[in-house]
Amino acid sequence: MSAAPKTLVIRNGTLIDGSGKPAGRNDAIVIEGNRIKSVGALPPDVTLEDRRNVQVIDAAGQWIMPGLIDAHCHMSYGYPMIKGEGKGKGTTRPEFSTLKSARSAQKVLRAGVTSISVPGGTWFTDVGVRDAIRLGLMHGPRMFVAGRMIVTYGCIEDDEPSWEGTPDHSIGKLCNTADEMVTEVRRQGKHGVNFIKMADSRSGESQMLAKEEIAAVVGEAHRRNLKVAIHSRGAGSTRAAAEAGVDWIVHADLATERDLEAVAKAGMPILPTATFLSVVIELGKKVGAEQVQLDINRMQRHYELLGKLMHKARELGIRLLVGTDTGNNAFTPHGELHAKELEIFVKHGGYSPMEAIVAATRDNAIAVGLDGRVGEVAPGKLADIIVLDKDPVADITVLQGGKHLTRVIKDGRQIDLDPRDEMLQFQQAAE
Ligand SMILES: [Zn+2]
Repeated sequence: MSAAPKTLVIRNGTLIDGSGKPAGRNDAIVIEGNRIKSVGALPPDVTLEDRRNVQVIDAAGQWIMPGLIDAHCHMSYGYPMIKGEGKGKGTTRPEFSTLKSARSAQKVLRAGVTSISVPGGTWFTDVGVRDAIRLGLMHGPRMFVAGRMIVTYGCIEDDEPSWEGTPDHSIGKLCNTADEMVTEVRRQGKHGVNFIKMADSRSGESQMLAKEEIAAVVGEAHRRNLKVAIHSRGAGSTRAAAEAGVDWIVHADLATERDLEAVAKAGMPILPTATFLSVVIELGKKVGAEQVQLDINRMQRHYELLGKLMHKARELGIRLLVGTDTGNNAFTPHGELHAKELEIFVKHGGYSPMEAIVAATRDNAIAVGLDGRVGEVAPGKLADIIVLDKDPVADITVLQGGKHLTRVIKDGRQIDLDPRDEMLQFQQAAE
């Protein structure tokens, strides 16, 4: 963390402000503390020669935009697997998961992602890492976190036989009645989560959460100022989630036109998350489907449906959120894929690069509980800004992997980008 001067000024360059307005010439962006004070002409009370209090960044020949938001990024599970440990989604020990998550959070930030929404994890690891970042113990993105996903028998993340249930280290938490769900909402709320993640069936072919159960969770969560998100590929669960008033729906790929109309009427966004599918499909082609241990044909079908969903959502005026499912597996490493979804929005969803950027910045702020407060370079907004040496509107892929980043500013402070050179590669299995 560099010592923060009172005022930071970014001069010159091309500004993409996150509002969707065409990119334009930047004169001066003035940041005071953790907020943007002004954008445009340099205010008369800012003296660039005052070196002690004013730091100037010259972005001539570069592109300035809001920090990216990944609305779907897991931190506390996925990899590595450690020999001799209990079966789980990656390591099952909270101590190890916390350290791994802390390390990964720094990679995420250095990739230009200044906020993430974490829809599910192990223990209360993500709450701890969020707070460590907030308290200045370490660098990392703003984190908006859920706890273990609320599931019934047979839902995604109910992986053990019924006589085992969901062990404490699982990312799912079995609750087979509305009462049990409400109790779990209260327990997670007590431990400091920002939102509740519910999860219906894996593939969406059958509906495993009743509308009344979803409504019970929404009622309890909202009373406690917690948001609710749901993994819902299915048609029935998507309609039920819409009618029960969840805050956003993850996937929704099997939803029919009429289900989507129900979503549009209720007004919540959808978070398609096509990146994970595209990575699995690519990997399956490369190493063979058996290696990935995932049903590539099913993934391909979901992927194609998500492309159609993106078009339909736009017609119906449904806001789409941009997320990747980074960190849910060994092949979705932190820091690499956070901007891949924007490329998919452009390639398959009918979005222009500028529209994809708005979706991943201003429009994504709702998934981190900061709607209207972050995701735009405008006066009064939180000062999360990235600077690139290539134009992301000309080529949306330049946002990927942090390769074209020259600066990352989070909360008004510049982040040291150098340590990305020494990033550790996790071993899939420790010997
Ligand atoms: Zn996920």
